[in-house]
Amino acid sequence: MTETGTVIDGHVHFFTAADLARVAGQLPYTLPDPHTLTDYLAGLKDSGTIPTLLNNVHLSILPDSANVFASFEELAALTRREPERYGSVRLVGTIKADPAYADAEHLSHPQVVGVRIVLHDAPPDRVSSDAFSSAEWKALFGRLRPDQHVHVYAQEAETNLRVLRQIPASVRVLIDHLGTCHAERGIDEPAYRALLAEARRRGNVWFKGPGYRTSIEIETALPFVAAIIETLGHGRLLLQASDAPHVGTDAEGRNFAAHFTAASALQFTESLAQAAAQVTGIPADRLLRQAADEIFPVLKKAKP
Ligand SMILES: [Zn+2]
Repeated sequence: MTETGTVIDGHVHFFTAADLARVAGQLPYTLPDPHTLTDYLAGLKDSGTIPTLLNNVHLSILPDSANVFASFEELAALTRREPERYGSVRLVGTIKADPAYADAEHLSHPQVVGVRIVLHDAPPDRVSSDAFSSAEWKALFGRLRPDQHVHVYAQEAETNLRVLRQIPASVRVLIDHLGTCHAERGIDEPAYRALLAEARRRGNVWFKGPGYRTSIEIETALPFVAAIIETLGHGRLLLQASDAPHVGTDAEGRNFAAHFTAASALQFTESLAQAAAQVTGIPADRLLRQAADEIFPVLKKAKP
């Protein structure tokens, strides 16, 4: 654990058996086991950790983000039962970036911090030049509050870049997995450099960990962290995220779920931040979570 003892989880997925039942039989692969907020908190408590901030991120296999809203209720109920234990946990959510779903009502929830575009391994040419700039997408981006952001997940830097270029300049953007899941291409992949340059030009783009989806080897993920800090400054990086329940595999086919628990994934982020602190001189705590204050700001109560 780092100096402050504080832990956040900037990217985690909570869903119940009821959420999975909505898509049973409709997907070409085995469904994951349920991963509920209650079980997750109980597991982390066993390791001596209660996060102060959690971001329940839209899970792409689900048709919408009803599970995100349900998790807000789940935490409220837990807190009523055990206020001493859970009263300090703040839960926010990132809902499905779908012009039809992310309507004014869903976006008006004070705990909704943004919308998530999920492209997985889509190659760049699958993102057409108007994929995210049609009238309906422009309307969605226009509905976001100034404190909300667009969260983008694509495994290729060039795919991230194509999406980023279509998001209006005034809209805040959070890019997953350090911007690339292709560590083998290195930090000098032209598309990666172009992605960092475009993020710097815009001035309102953050990159998020955990880092193990770029590489589960600290020394392989580290250059990407250092490149982000060098190009954008450490204030544009948020490393502390578990991405539990660790669905998927790395480039060598190693199953993340077999490799990580929530606690060990958060430990990975601490090790990565400490390695980055050695190289950059920026304290690990800042690299882990300082940017959370900006990405997930606490809304001020409206004046009466
Ligand atoms: Zn995820």
